[in-house]
Amino acid sequence: MAHSRGFSINLAEKCVIVTGGNRGIGLAISQACARAGARVAIIYRSSKDAEKVAEGIAKDTGARCQAYQCDVSDSELVTKTFKKIDSEMGPVTGLVANAGVSVVKPALELTKDDFEKVYNVNVLGVFNAARAAAELWIKHKHQGGSIVITSSMSSRIINQLGTGKPLTQVFYNSSKAAVSNLVKGLAAEWAHNDIRVNAVCPGYVETDQTSGMDQKIRDYQAGHLPLGRFAKPHEMAPMALLLLSEHASYMTGQEYFVDGGQLVY
Ligand code: NDP
Repeated sequence: MAHSRGFSINLAEKCVIVTGGNRGIGLAISQACARAGARVAIIYRSSKDAEKVAEGIAKDTGARCQAYQCDVSDSELVTKTFKKIDSEMGPVTGLVANAGVSVVKPALELTKDDFEKVYNVNVLGVFNAARAAAELWIKHKHQGGSIVITSSMSSRIINQLGTGKPLTQVFYNSSKAAVSNLVKGLAAEWAHNDIRVNAVCPGYVETDQTSGMDQKIRDYQAGHLPLGRFAKPHEMAPMALLLLSEHASYMTGQEYFVDGGQLVY
C-alpha cells in the first residue's frame, strides 16, 4: 500500500509502465506504484543506473520492478518494448507516459532541431507510448487500461524564466498544450474499449529539469505560488496512483493540476 499523508491506494495485480521512470517525477511514481503492490516496468533512454534504480525499488518494496531501455520517440521500438514487457511482466494494466524534455532559449534562437528534440519526446513520444499500450489492450483483449500522461501547468500558462528580459519555453509550453489536447482525443476514441486517458499537470517540481534555474527566478516563482514552494517529486504520485486505480473508473479525458495553487492567479 502507498501512503502519503493518509492517501492509500492498492494496485496489487496491476502492472504499470512508467516512461522516464528512473528519475525525477517518474521515479517517485514508480516507487509509489511498487509500494502500492504493482509490478513496475521503468522505461529510460540513456541513464547508466536505471537497472540499479529498478533493483533498488524491487528490494525496498518487494514488488517486481525492471528497467527497459527505449527511446519513446521511436515508434517501432516502443511497440516492440511494450510487447516484451507485456509478455515478461504483464498483463500490462496501466501506463504513465511521463518522459519529457525541455529547451530553454529565447524564441528568436530556437531551431528546427530544438523543435524536434522537444516535440519528438513530449508529443510524439507520449502518443507512441499511449498507442502501444492501447494496442496491447485492444488487440490482445485485455480488460481495458488506464493511461496517465504527465503534462504541465505550462499547458495553460507561460512561465517567465528570464532575469531582466522575458524568457519562456515556447516549444516546451506548446508541446504540453498539445499533449493536454491529445488526452481528450484519445479518451474519446478509446472510452468504448474501457481505456481511460487523463493528464497530471505538475507545477514546479524539484527535479533535474528545474535544477538549472537561476536562483533569483526560482525564489521569485516560489514566492508567488500560493503554497510558497516548489513541489517534491513524491507529491505528484498520489494523483497518478488514483488515476491508475479502480477508484478513478469514471474519470477520463481530464487534466488534474498539482501545482501548489499556481493557476489561481
Ligand atoms: P527529468 O528531467 O528529471 O527526467 C526526465 C526523464 O525522461 C528521464 O527519466 C529520462 O530518461 C526520460 N526521457 C527523456 N527523453 C526520453 C526518451 N526519448 N525516451 C525515453 N525516456 C526519455 O524530468 P522531470 O521528472 O522533471 O519531468 C517528468 C515529466 O514531468 C516531464 O514530462 C516534464 O515535462 C513534466 N513536468 C516537470 C515539471 C518540473 O518542474 N520538473 C513541471 C511540469 C511538468 P534518462 O534518465 O535515461 O535520460
